[in-house]
Amino acid sequence: MSLTDSYDRDNIFARILRGEVPCYRIYEDDHTLAFLDLFPQSRGHTLVIPKHAAARNILDIAADDLKHLIVSTQRVARAVVAALQPGGVQIFQLSGTAGGQTVFHIHFHVIPRWPGEPFALHGRQRAADHDLSEMASLISAHVGAVQGGG
Ligand code: 5GP
Repeated sequence: MSLTDSYDRDNIFARILRGEVPCYRIYEDDHTLAFLDLFPQSRGHTLVIPKHAAARNILDIAADDLKHLIVSTQRVARAVVAALQPGGVQIFQLSGTAGGQTVFHIHFHVIPRWPGEPFALHGRQRAADHDLSEMASLISAHVGAVQGGG
């Protein structure tokens, strides 16, 4: 998809938001939803999306929506770190096909990293449901104890 294409209301994350497709939910508030990536690049790989913005990426999201999204991303990153104790965490957002983006509803990736642990290829291997379920319980148990934005 080029950077000038319009927002597709039937993209997979829009369908998750409408409840048409299930997800392993980590966190939700009035503005944002966070859930596990089904094809994680490391264990605990989480995606954070806006609920009401018809935005494809960083280039077309409105400022208020972006503020809510980045504050939730910080909160989710803190919960991931508290739950999994990684050595580091990577946050990224890809824009446009040539930028590596594959789902065109803006999202931030939160990817915990451990020294010496391999980094899986982007969107390749689907994780097992029992692992995703266990990870969702673990991270979401910590999300209430942390805040974003402060
Ligand atoms: P992007 O390539 O757009 O930056 O990231 C899209 C992400 O969505 C990829 O990491 C991919 O693994 C993930 N993904 C693709 N389809 C689904 C799905 O149906 N459910 C979930 N939870 N993640 C998905």
